[in-house]
Amino acid sequence: MQIFYKVKEIQDYLTKFNSESVGFVATMGSLHKGHLSLINASQQENKITICSIFINPKQFSNQEDLIKYPQNIDLDIEKLKSVNCDIVFIPNVEEVYPNKVEKEFYFGVLSEVMEAKHRPGHFNGVAIVIERFFEILSPTRAYFGEKDFQQLAVIRALVKKINSSVKIIGCPIYREINGLAMSSRNERLSEAEKEEASEISKALTYVCQHKNSHSVTELKDYFMNRMSMNKLFVPEYFEIADKNTLVPINNWSEAKTYIAFTAVNVEGVRLIDNMTIIN
Ligand code: AMP
Repeated sequence: MQIFYKVKEIQDYLTKFNSESVGFVATMGSLHKGHLSLINASQQENKITICSIFINPKQFSNQEDLIKYPQNIDLDIEKLKSVNCDIVFIPNVEEVYPNKVEKEFYFGVLSEVMEAKHRPGHFNGVAIVIERFFEILSPTRAYFGEKDFQQLAVIRALVKKINSSVKIIGCPIYREINGLAMSSRNERLSEAEKEEASEISKALTYVCQHKNSHSVTELKDYFMNRMSMNKLFVPEYFEIADKNTLVPINNWSEAKTYIAFTAVNVEGVRLIDNMTIIN
């Protein structure tokens, strides 16, 4: 596996693969099986696979969250070697942002609801870093997890907006056996807290199974009440949205396909999850 820290070095190396397909997986490190499933998806479809590890300061509106973000670079490199990833790119902030960037992206409703509403500036920071990585690496395809479903929608919108030729591939959420969506942030929880946190996916599963017998409002109340009953949890939001547009709905008649979204703080660790509601 090749390891690069500098933009110029990885770009020089990539000239060897000019006419080959390049798959790209952007991460912030502390890799888990969810990340590795994206690497695997890329390896199925591309000649070479690049994984980046970069904690992007521009996508953190909360400085404490940025400081506490877990870092395990040596272990990450071992994990990437063990799955035969071809290239890992680990740039520092100066490499990614040599010049001041003051772009303001607007993605319509995607810039206004759920994660966008609760983390102002977050998706602008995501769009800035992904545009920059696409510029540096010119991948053929890029792989993003449905764990961050709204982010995936933002990236698809970004690619359209900037006329990029990168093909965006969404990959399914990888969960623990107890249902908890894998996340680097889970590392900040004890084993007992992780078990408790699996309540989030269990409550989402309940919502998904009760579409036909309950109204949207009833299910929203159910979810928020169930979360509030747990002393470890502070729920931030729960929405059922149109799966195509991500516009939150209040009545089933407002959409044809649905997806439930939530963010819940578990002992100060902010976890997000989502689940598609099958009709
Ligand atoms: P992150 O390191 O959290 O920025 O995530 C990097 C990529 O991995 C993003 O595209 C995430 O959506 C994806 N990802 C994170 N957790 C999971 C998971 N549990 N299952 C699938 N993809 C994931």
